Amino acid sequence: MNLEELYRNLLCEIGEDTEREGLVRTPRRAAEAMRFLTSGYQVELQKVVNGAIFQEDAEDIVVIRDIEFFSLCEHHLLPFFGYAHVAYIPNGRIIGISKVARIVDMYARRLQVQERMTQQIALALTEVLDPQGVACVLEGKHLCMMARGVEKQASNVSTSYLTGVFRENPTTRGEFYDLIRDRKSYA
Ligand code: ZN
Repeated sequence: MNLEELYRNLLCEIGEDTEREGLVRTPRRAAEAMRFLTSGYQVELQKVVNGAIFQEDAEDIVVIRDIEFFSLCEHHLLPFFGYAHVAYIPNGRIIGISKVARIVDMYARRLQVQERMTQQIALALTEVLDPQGVACVLEGKHLCMMARGVEKQASNVSTSYLTGVFRENPTTRGEFYDLIRDRKSYA
């Protein structure tokens, strides 16, 4: 059974009439939406980066803040979304800035838990850049928490993953948190 047929069955199961006008094309649209939201499985890190690594002897923190992400929680298949804030300290190489956003998308467009996604983004940058350290902070709102269950609309989930100098050196870590102090979140 393909995705479209599965969605048609799902609509029947919740008591809908799949022949009514507004729903006739819904299974196809929902299947397309689901394929898009999980398209990160088809993406490979090296292809995302596509050679956009440049020799540079910069040694200061590079921060890319407020990268929007949309993901699906693997426990409820409901969206969670928010902002990613990513930093690294180069070790002779830098990466094209837009590639960082693409790496975020690559991991967001899968079934996820926010904790793992935070770590995957940091480890992907580590793999392609071998930097002195990476810091990744995600601030997310989870529909499975807002719209069902405990129904807490204002709650915001923060996760962080630090490697190298960000983990080892409190001054560097402090500098990073200063740089993202007025970061965006939906809270
Ligand atoms: Zn959930």
